[in-house]
Amino acid sequence: MRIVFMGPPGAGKGTQAALLSHELGIPHISTGDIFRANVTDGTPLGKQAQSYMDAGEYVPDGVTNAMVRDRLTHEDAQPGFILDGYPRTVEQVGELDAMLRSDGTKIDSVIELTVDVDVVVDRLIRRSAEQGRTDDTEDVLRRRLQVYSEQTAPLIELYQSRDLLVQVNGLGDIAAVTAAIVLAVNS
Ligand code: AMP
Repeated sequence: MRIVFMGPPGAGKGTQAALLSHELGIPHISTGDIFRANVTDGTPLGKQAQSYMDAGEYVPDGVTNAMVRDRLTHEDAQPGFILDGYPRTVEQVGELDAMLRSDGTKIDSVIELTVDVDVVVDRLIRRSAEQGRTDDTEDVLRRRLQVYSEQTAPLIELYQSRDLLVQVNGLGDIAAVTAAIVLAVNS
């Protein structure tokens, strides 16, 4: 199973992708987590990514695509994967298509977690305090939401036109949202 999670910052993609990964036994690949781990470890990739992340901007496509291309070659991703936070731009969609085409595979489902933006802002401000994330201050958060609506929201229509999109309300109880997603990917 090859699944993509979409939805604005704070929709619960990370939480749900981790739960689904456990349920399906395939890896949860979060580009945001990989970037954050690289920032923490002070790697060259982390140094490249940090200023963009701190400003709420996207890391350039070339850097992000190369990172995902490498991650998808790992053994654990061969039976399938859940991509969380990728693709986020039209160019990334094209790159992902090319990566899968060369493997003879394809995306099975794109799950969009839908949420009310005001609820999301509250959630993220709370998470920022809990996790000490430097990219969730109110200004950066507003920029992240704006970048999402400009660059990533158009992907929803694109995947809808390919008949891959499943919309799930992200605001329910966590277990109920997971159950709805499991039902959707199995049907
Ligand atoms: P996330 O945890 O998915 O919200 O990602 C945190 C930050 O990492 C984003 O605000 C971007 O700066 C960067 N990032 C994560 N995924 C991508 C991506 N697919 N393309 C570009 N930047 C990304």
